[in-house]
Amino acid sequence: MKLDVNVLRYLSKDDFRVLTAVEMGMRNHEIVPAELIDRIASLRHGGTYKVLKNLLKHKLLHHDGSKYDGFRLTYLGYDFLAIKTLVNRGVFSSVGRQIGVGKESDIFEVANEDGTIMAMKLHRLGRTSFRAVKSKRDYLRHRSSFSWLYLSRLAALKEFAFMKALQEHGFPVPNAVDCNRHCVIMSLVHGYPFVQVKQLQNPDTVFEKIIGIVVRLAEHGLIHCDFNEFNIMIDDDENITIIDFPQMVSVSHRNAEMYFDRDVECIIKFFSKRFNLSFETNADDSDSDAESDAVKPRFSSIKKASGFLDKELSASGFSKKEQDDIEKFIEKKPDSDDEEEEEEEEEEEEEEEEEDDEDEDHDSSKLNASDIRKFDSLCSLTKDDDNEQPE
Ligand code: ADP
Ligand code: MG
Repeated sequence: MKLDVNVLRYLSKDDFRVLTAVEMGMRNHEIVPAELIDRIASLRHGGTYKVLKNLLKHKLLHHDGSKYDGFRLTYLGYDFLAIKTLVNRGVFSSVGRQIGVGKESDIFEVANEDGTIMAMKLHRLGRTSFRAVKSKRDYLRHRSSFSWLYLSRLAALKEFAFMKALQEHGFPVPNAVDCNRHCVIMSLVHGYPFVQVKQLQNPDTVFEKIIGIVVRLAEHGLIHCDFNEFNIMIDDDENITIIDFPQMVSVSHRNAEMYFDRDVECIIKFFSKRFNLSFETNADDSDSDAESDAVKPRFSSIKKASGFLDKELSASGFSKKEQDDIEKFIEKKPDSDDEEEEEEEEEEEEEEEEEDDEDEDHDSSKLNASDIRKFDSLCSLTKDDDNEQPE
């Protein structure tokens, strides 16, 4: 995805004010009525409409006139809000090249004033699994904040909280620097995704290190759930760094053993295919004839701590409720077999959605005085704000 941050320079304080107004409106509108945006932004002399046009030109907003004159944020618009906030906090000052495209994220290099380069991960939940988002509608429909904005923000918050907690427990993860909206800033990992590595000096040692991490995670009450050659980084000295945490679950999850085994199997499969490593199937097989066989850990024989998620994560700003919300969304991604059925469901849901939107039209009053105050404090995050307040 193209991220032309030069546009950032040409956007005025009013542009950001209107962009933030759209973001607020999206809490209870998929498409925010122009009139509501104008009311929230309260720019003088009907300035909002001119600004909306400019934001549309830069593709920060999407216009939808099918039911009423309305707008929604694009990913780019949301990116800019997060970037602007983090730049104003002094976290970084420039955005460089794209270094990764994940299934549900875009990763860029960013640099601060000292020239330190970091990684910026922009979460895009719903990009590949919009259907899954829809299939969760029943669960989420009563949440006014439900949307890809909400899910992407939760994914970022969870990733940041996990990275921080894991780092504090000595796991080899990037350093969690900061987080805003759907955006996580972390230290840059010097190395390559493991999938790109064709040869290793010490495959056995690397395997043991990696499996050791899976086991130690479980001892801390956690399962990565997407532990594979794409989410392991390795450097020239064969040091390992683990990345990508939004899907992690607790060892007390009802499918914990299956997730644990799946993580282990992924690594074993990769090592046996690429580095010809052979494996013992059972850790208790003392009569194994191949002495060099690596050992496969068993979930049941790990001494697991519990409470890590509840205690440490809520301490770092990620609540149990948010954990449940995102888990409900992530764990049940539709299989390709279900596609036809899903498509039918989707059509039905689209019809339902139209009805929902009509309901939502009557909801504009939900935006109350405290929302507007919050909005003002958001806007005051912009350095160049001259303290002009809406009446
Ligand atoms: P996704 O959740 O979309 O899979 P990841 O966090 O796995 O996203 O990142 C996708 C890719 O971006 C990784 O495979 C890696 O190449 C690169 N990447 C992610 N984080 C970093 C980082 N901190 N330093 C260097 N490269 C990174
Ligand atoms: Mg990944």
